[in-house]
Amino acid sequence: MTIIDVAIIGGGASGTTAAFHLASKNKNVCILEKNISTTGRVCSGGMSAAVQNMFPFELLPIIDEVITNVEFSWCNADKVVAELSGSSPFWIVKREILDSFLLDQALNSGCNLLSPFNVVDIKKKSKIWQITALDGRQLEAKAVVIADGSQSPWPKSFNLGPNQQKFASTFSGRIKRKGNLRSETARFEFGLVKNGFAWAFPLNNEVNVGMGTFLDNKNSIPVNEILQSFLPDLGFAPSEIIGSEKKLRVWNGHCKLNGEGILLIGDAASLCDPFLAEGLRPALISGFEAAKSLIYWLDGEVNCLDEYTKTMQRNWGNSMAWGKRISQVFYRFPKVGYQLGVKRPTAPKRIAQILSGEMSYEDIAKRVIKRLLFQNQSSKS
Ligand SMILES: Cc1cc2nc3c(=O)[nH]c(=O)nc-3n(C[C@H](O)[C@H](O)[C@H](O)COP(=O)(O)OP(=O)(O)OC[C@H]3O[C@@H](n4cnc5c(N)ncnc54)[C@H](O)[C@@H]3O)c2cc1C
Repeated sequence: MTIIDVAIIGGGASGTTAAFHLASKNKNVCILEKNISTTGRVCSGGMSAAVQNMFPFELLPIIDEVITNVEFSWCNADKVVAELSGSSPFWIVKREILDSFLLDQALNSGCNLLSPFNVVDIKKKSKIWQITALDGRQLEAKAVVIADGSQSPWPKSFNLGPNQQKFASTFSGRIKRKGNLRSETARFEFGLVKNGFAWAFPLNNEVNVGMGTFLDNKNSIPVNEILQSFLPDLGFAPSEIIGSEKKLRVWNGHCKLNGEGILLIGDAASLCDPFLAEGLRPALISGFEAAKSLIYWLDGEVNCLDEYTKTMQRNWGNSMAWGKRISQVFYRFPKVGYQLGVKRPTAPKRIAQILSGEMSYEDIAKRVIKRLLFQNQSSKS
């Protein structure tokens, strides 16, 4: 059996990104994907335009809508609108289009694809990884990238990822017309969902509507009840939406994302933002960084996979540590959070800057601490 360089388990946003970058550097890489079609992936498709920095090809042609304004509400009232500033707007993309576009880029760069290939076993024998599909097919690789999303069993098997996995309960669906959502505007509704929020993102001629609850992940989300209030405010009847629920694995503490010849990326690595459910940007960042480390490792630099864990902690995890703290306070006292947080004159702009990737939660926390210290010093003098 031929031993390939890298087997990537999962052909979603993170897996295809890693595959593209590895294949572009002439590595022998294969994506193993359980589902042939990219349709039916549960995601609302909002992502920062900053993800463009990770690709040499243009993403804009596949983007449905460039968002320039964000509108916040509390129980469909008390609305605040903020303009997105700076050079990194927020994009809305159809998830099935993004995934098949990235897959095409990877395949055009020389990556292979085995699909359907439902991975049921991963073992290491004398430094070589043996990956087995449900139908018994096997593949051998020098390295394996775990990119199979929120339900991935492999981080626990290989003692990687956070000690305790944390999940948000989410729903996303699509409506096949525009309703009354203002053009180029994304809507965030904080009062209707307990311990979470609902959103509506415009597409070309459609709208993605979703919701997530972030503190209590044991109960399922009362989707229909929330849609009954939210959809009429957007100009839709509740019966118009088609969607599904999903448990989304979110960031829950700094942890090891690599072992010897194995890396976790995307949702399998628990990278999703625990406050706003942003998972596409970290999926693409981790796919890019994992490929970078693997290229050095395959060329003989033995310790460089640890660098991947460190880079993800620096470039994403440090911000998520603050995102988790903010989430715990905000969703426990959402009404106070909305009045004192979102309705603060500068707050909508800050949330918009987080969504566009211009600022991290860490930058914001440092600003607040600095302001508090300054206020404390001036009250003493
Ligand atoms: C309701 C909802 C709305 C969301 N909205 C947004 C949003 O607007 N913006 C945003 O940034 N993020 C959003 N997210 C998060 C985002 O969708 C995820 O973070 C992102 O999909 C992670 O990509 P991934 O490649 O890691 O995993 P996935 O996209 O889940 O891809 C995993 C791939 O692995 C395959 N796979 C699974 N098991 C196996 C197996 N055993 N063998 C082979 N293949 C396998 C799957 O078929 C799939 O193709 C949302 C998530 C949800 C649930």
